[in-house]
Amino acid sequence: MTNQLGAEQIEEFIKDTFEDNYRTMRLEGGHGLTPDIREYAFQQVLRYWQKLQHIAENVTDTEVPLVLPNQKTPKGRRYTIEGVVDILREQDRTVMYDIKTHDADYVRENRELYEKQLNVYAHIWQELRGQPLDETAVIATSFPGGLEQAIKQGDPVTINSEMLKWDPVIPIPFDRDHVKDTIADFGMVVDAIEDKTFSAAPLTTLQRKEGGSLFATRVCRNCDARFSCDSYRAYAVGARSRKETRFAELFATDEAERMTRVAVNVDAAPAPSEAD
Ligand code: SF4
Repeated sequence: MTNQLGAEQIEEFIKDTFEDNYRTMRLEGGHGLTPDIREYAFQQVLRYWQKLQHIAENVTDTEVPLVLPNQKTPKGRRYTIEGVVDILREQDRTVMYDIKTHDADYVRENRELYEKQLNVYAHIWQELRGQPLDETAVIATSFPGGLEQAIKQGDPVTINSEMLKWDPVIPIPFDRDHVKDTIADFGMVVDAIEDKTFSAAPLTTLQRKEGGSLFATRVCRNCDARFSCDSYRAYAVGARSRKETRFAELFATDEAERMTRVAVNVDAAPAPSEAD
């Protein structure tokens, strides 16, 4: 498509597709977005395209399912590891991308957390599928704060300079030697889940600052379980900043419909304030 269409036509296509998707989701789910959140979501898609145009145009295999079946936990339970990645093959080089909704700085500072998962995917791709691989990387789709502010202010010069600063592609080294350990770690997690010995961190941990950021921001914001987590709920309800108060209002009227709105708004919103 990109060979036939110019940048303006592609952006028009993105806008139309975004609107179509939104209409479908609204009809199917019965929930709408506030205009500001909808515009924020659209800007994220558009800027993501502008920033990663090269990868988007050249990716050769999208949403490739990777499966490692028949694994055994230390307690003898059978389980399967599954993942989805994108592959780009270009001039004899093959790169595997794992797309995360996480903050790029967070990924950069915590590469080891992502390394394990990507190592397993690389193992499946190379060893089980017999495919070449030269590099693995995470694409972090969360909007940087500076770019978000620039878009809000609508100043094209600042938007341009923030776009140049934004670097959402984080190379992650892969090492075959770690694969066995990582699979063993997964097995222990499966046992802990099945034995129901997992518990959320206490509220005091969420409120604790480490390395300049709160646990609630650094860890919980990337946790898929946060909308059903009592500690995160208590954190949001007790928070004092404007954004968190907004979460708190949503949490306070706790029907399923409200939780869906929380999910949509929290995912679209920037990180909770570190101010306090
Ligand atoms: S939101 Fe996730 S990471 Fe944070 S306390 Fe709850 S379970 Fe743990």
